[in-house]
Amino acid sequence: MSGRPVKVTLPDGSVREVASGTTARAVAEGIGPGLARAAVAAKVDGAVWDLDRPIERDVALAILTEKDPEALEVLRHSAAHVLATAVREIFPGAGIGFGPPIEDGFYYDFEVPRPFTPEDIEKIEARMGEVAKSDYPFVREVVDRLAANQRFADDPLKLERISELRDDETITVYTDGPFTDLCRGPHIPRTGRLKHFKLLHAAGAYWRGDEKRQMLQRIYGTAWFKKKDLDAYLHRLEEARKRDHRVIGKQLDLFSISDLVGPGLVLWHPKGAMIKWLLCRTVEDDNVANGYDLVSTPNVTKEELFKISGHLPLYAANQYPAMGAGAGEAEDVRYRVKPMNCPMHALIYKSQQRSYRDLPIRLSEVANVYRNEKSGTLHGLLRVRGLAMDDAHIFCTMEQIEDEIFLCLDQVDRLVRATFGFELDFEVSTRPEERLGGDEVWDQAESFLKHALDRKNIPYRIDEGGGAFYGPKIDIKFKDAIGRIWQGPTIQLDFNLPERFELEYTGADNRPHRPVMIHRAIYGTLERFTGNLIEHFAGAFPVWLAPEQVRVIPISDAQAEAARGLAARLKAAGLRVHVDDRTETLNYRIREGEMQKVPYMAVIGQREAESDSIALRVRGVGKKQEVMPVAAFLERVSGEVGSRALAP
Ligand SMILES: [Zn+2]
Ligand SMILES: [Zn+2]
Repeated sequence: MSGRPVKVTLPDGSVREVASGTTARAVAEGIGPGLARAAVAAKVDGAVWDLDRPIERDVALAILTEKDPEALEVLRHSAAHVLATAVREIFPGAGIGFGPPIEDGFYYDFEVPRPFTPEDIEKIEARMGEVAKSDYPFVREVVDRLAANQRFADDPLKLERISELRDDETITVYTDGPFTDLCRGPHIPRTGRLKHFKLLHAAGAYWRGDEKRQMLQRIYGTAWFKKKDLDAYLHRLEEARKRDHRVIGKQLDLFSISDLVGPGLVLWHPKGAMIKWLLCRTVEDDNVANGYDLVSTPNVTKEELFKISGHLPLYAANQYPAMGAGAGEAEDVRYRVKPMNCPMHALIYKSQQRSYRDLPIRLSEVANVYRNEKSGTLHGLLRVRGLAMDDAHIFCTMEQIEDEIFLCLDQVDRLVRATFGFELDFEVSTRPEERLGGDEVWDQAESFLKHALDRKNIPYRIDEGGGAFYGPKIDIKFKDAIGRIWQGPTIQLDFNLPERFELEYTGADNRPHRPVMIHRAIYGTLERFTGNLIEHFAGAFPVWLAPEQVRVIPISDAQAEAARGLAARLKAAGLRVHVDDRTETLNYRIREGEMQKVPYMAVIGQREAESDSIALRVRGVGKKQEVMPVAAFLERVSGEVGSRALAP
């Protein structure tokens, strides 16, 4: 510690002079023992460092404690090393892949002869506890390529990684007790800092995500600084597991995915299709009521169309491969199933001479599109290959953008926030480095988006440079019942497609002008949105969306006639009703109605049959039963359906 002095600038602007070679830990100790104890890592000129790494130049320094999100990442990456330490002790021959921190946790990939069993995972977790208790320091060493190759001579995965490092890259290794890993770091000072963690599950994962390479075994885990945070996270996972739309979808008989049809292609069963249809109708009714025209376009198209739009060859990997021409067409003509509707809507715009008086033109379509997603990424309804989009394209003048965005935001507010009670989160993505169109156009376009949000008093974040090359956009996310954030509506400006398809309108000056195109989706894909809704409501849909709204249950055969009569009346009022007059016990039938999450069960005994009333059981309020006249019940339910109430 006898180096020349260097200057360390702290976050409050104060400057400390220390000897070159001083560590961030020593600086923290100089500030106060409390800070030194709380320190997890350091931020040095914006990069996260180990606490014990020597500082050898003038730097800006911040001490990271448990409160800093970056510290949590350091903890989780260190937990991955502790996991590898434990795996190597139990399976000495295991090859070591990558072990990064991820959202809410970490994973590590291992090359082992067989998948890990739940018993293995338990053993590994226990061993991790011992490694943590041993309180090994994480020791960083800078090594040269030769030394690195020698260190990892028996680990081909690491050797492959070393061979890819550039000559000017510093190679570092980290050692905690018996385990050394090739790693950039940084890490927590000692393994003992890892106290609250849990291994979650194991799954196969291709080396480097490449299905042509060998299959590794990935172990996922989570780690937190505080026990209460770990407990809360595990509770959230448990809640999410209970709400899994794939499980509820099966229980409620909403949809299935058949191997014979193919992965990512959904078969909607009657009840699921009813939900999808109601969502579709909701958005289409709203479109028609708000100045949109409905259009309809085919599922396949000549691939030439996507060459003009620029999607081919750029996005060929996301499209299904081409198929041959139709009967009687030239043999070299190729077709594709469509991954999006935009080019076809552009052609509908182009089918006529347009004047500025015709604008804006709003074309909407709930259409099936197909995207060739990797099979490994597919997930129930949330990630599919065949999807129905509530798509719309608005063609307008530059001056009309702000008002059009304003109307789109209104629609989002009605259909997402007001209808489902979701909290929304807005983000504006601005011009990227590489872009189409001059600064003047972007200045205007971006300010229109922001003005529209300001006029509605909506707070938003800016994703600087996050826009597409063809225009800025507004992304909207929503939060579900257990706090998870989902991708929601998007409103995207586009200067590119109008250019590529040479769209025009005649201005007041009698000259041709180029319109702007706005792509907007409210529910996005009905598959994903339905999946979100299933998990948000845990299958207990509000009455307007419930596939079965009322289940009529006669107590005995003697009331079967009255039950069918009541069902007919409710159906005539537009309700979706089912009569359960099976010879099962009343309790059994009620329990089944509860399992199916039917909002209302109308039980009919002799007294009810004679007095034109029902004994009403409302979902979610337990055994409580309320006798009410049929007319009053009808009024109540019709009111809730009409107002799309979130009840019962
Ligand atoms: Zn590492
Ligand atoms: Zn589009």
